Amino acid sequence: MRVRHLNCGTMPVPGDSLVCHVLLLETDNGLVLVDSGYGLADCASPARRLGPLRHVIRPVLDPEETAACQIENLGYSTDDVRHIVVTHFDLDHVGGIADFPGATVHATSTEVTAAQRPRTTLEHGRYRRRQWAHGPSLVTHEPVGESWRGFAAARELTAIAPGVVLISLPGHTRGHAAIAVDAGNRWVLHCGDAFHHRGAIEDETSTPWTMRVTETALAMDRKQLRRNQERIAELRRRADPDLVIVNAHDRTLFDRAVASA
Ligand SMILES: [Zn+2]
Repeated sequence: MRVRHLNCGTMPVPGDSLVCHVLLLETDNGLVLVDSGYGLADCASPARRLGPLRHVIRPVLDPEETAACQIENLGYSTDDVRHIVVTHFDLDHVGGIADFPGATVHATSTEVTAAQRPRTTLEHGRYRRRQWAHGPSLVTHEPVGESWRGFAAARELTAIAPGVVLISLPGHTRGHAAIAVDAGNRWVLHCGDAFHHRGAIEDETSTPWTMRVTETALAMDRKQLRRNQERIAELRRRADPDLVIVNAHDRTLFDRAVASA
């Protein structure tokens, strides 16, 4: 399985900019996306699709950055995308799913419940029903019973392809998950928003205070978020030679992943 790294959304922050790190898996049974970033409809109608939160995260919304455009530039059709596995349903992760109406969308059952029945002000702001109003085929998963490199709650999604593993990592949202994929010569662990800046898992790097504030403000369960970050940091300290750890928004981790792919 070949794994490509795509940036499907840029968001400026002081002195830097964030990416929306999306994985494109080329499998024997078609294309699979891990997360989807922003989509074409988000670029065309940001107020309708993204709501007031867009004023806080200020995405650039360049159609050329969407997964749909990048996949077509690679010579594929959007119909070639059969599955999309999302780490969670935040608006900067599921905006692109509408560009692949034939794809089945996979997430944890807890996350889908949270998106469909938001309980808090934070959940009402972050989940944007219009982004999945096209009615995608949705498959929910309970990642329990299997383990993956020390994470107790994992589930291999063999119906998609061998080597695609959904790992429960709640905290940022109620049903947030990480997704590990077997790229042949390496595994890529996409941690979504389990951490926003690499400083959370790298002993040698500190997290800018602005990123720490944002991460805390967006967390549904801060203690769980920190516990999971410590577990990811422990895994990184093990320095498994065949493992690349990335997240959704850290540009440096994205650039390193592109360079090592
Ligand atoms: Zn995000």
